[in-house]
Amino acid sequence: MRTVQSLISMYKEGNYYLKRMLVLVSLLTALISCGGNGSGGTVPDVNQAPLFTSTSSFSTLDNSFKTGYQAVATDKEDTAIIYSITGGADDVDFLIEPESGAVSFVIAPDFEHPHDENIDNIYEVEISATDSNYASSRLNLKITVSGNRVLLVIPIVVHVLYQEDTEHESNITEEKILSQIVVLNKDFRMKNTDLDNVAAEFKSIVTDMEIEFEMAKVDPNGEATNGITRTLDLTHESADENNIYFGNSGGHDAWPTNEYLNIWIYDGSDRLGNIGLGGRGQFPGGDPLTDGVVIPYQAFGTINPVARNQNLHLGRTATHEIGHWLDLRHVEMETNFMDTYVPDQQMLMFSEGQKATVHSIFSDGGGREELYENLTK
Ligand SMILES: [Zn+2]
Repeated sequence: MRTVQSLISMYKEGNYYLKRMLVLVSLLTALISCGGNGSGGTVPDVNQAPLFTSTSSFSTLDNSFKTGYQAVATDKEDTAIIYSITGGADDVDFLIEPESGAVSFVIAPDFEHPHDENIDNIYEVEISATDSNYASSRLNLKITVSGNRVLLVIPIVVHVLYQEDTEHESNITEEKILSQIVVLNKDFRMKNTDLDNVAAEFKSIVTDMEIEFEMAKVDPNGEATNGITRTLDLTHESADENNIYFGNSGGHDAWPTNEYLNIWIYDGSDRLGNIGLGGRGQFPGGDPLTDGVVIPYQAFGTINPVARNQNLHLGRTATHEIGHWLDLRHVEMETNFMDTYVPDQQMLMFSEGQKATVHSIFSDGGGREELYENLTK
């Protein structure tokens, strides 16, 4: 009967022979390949893996998909190098361009809400450089994220479609239009002064969307502009929602919707002055010719004429409709901007979840990726 020790020694012995066999096989392989290349030398040329020359640590500001980091490696044999992501605690957060080595985030990082593995705003990723002979080397890269950059400043064009009414009310002033931009930059940056009225249970998830708006400064022809077009609609055709978007039916054609947020202002009131249709906003991915938001002039901005009696006097119709344009759906969350049929003074906040939704539409394959690319290139 064999003892346990003898079994172990047999196993070890077997292992030893196996190792020797492997050494022999690899020697033979080396000899064969040496003979095959016809060099005739005694020392075979050994391919060397690429060497990284880019740094292993890097700092970047938050709210951008681009890290600004470029992997660079050199190859002794001067073959083409392909870069890839091969590991690291935060590998799922990154993309790399195989040929250029440019490293980008899948979701733009947020300094206040880090999503790296150990939540310290230091993202760890292993990148590899592989040459044409399949030799590769690795680099453990650390990207430190600091705050606080605005994700995107979106240029707005306002198309005013007005009637020749006695008071010329619908041809709203530039001052009234600018009062709306002020509201948007407060609401989307968590700077609205009525934040104190947010429902208690939602106070902890109120968030800064880190998106801003400005009137377009350059029109599609490259000319300077104040970002406002004015169209006298003699036939009142623009009151029909399908005509608003088209110059040949009383409205105004959209400016390229992958470069601007188009806002159409129209007279949506009936003969008693009640606003019928209200506003609407198109979700990402729809027809580019109708992509934007539509707001009745009485609900736009905070300067008269505003529909005070209908509680549309604080400019929240535009905040809500732009929320749709940024892919937000309605929620049954009291005091949220995306709640429905509530007066302006009860719409006060966006949530962290809504911010994640909005920011994801600007990422690779997102519904407004093209807009983001055009505005940040
Ligand atoms: Zn809505």
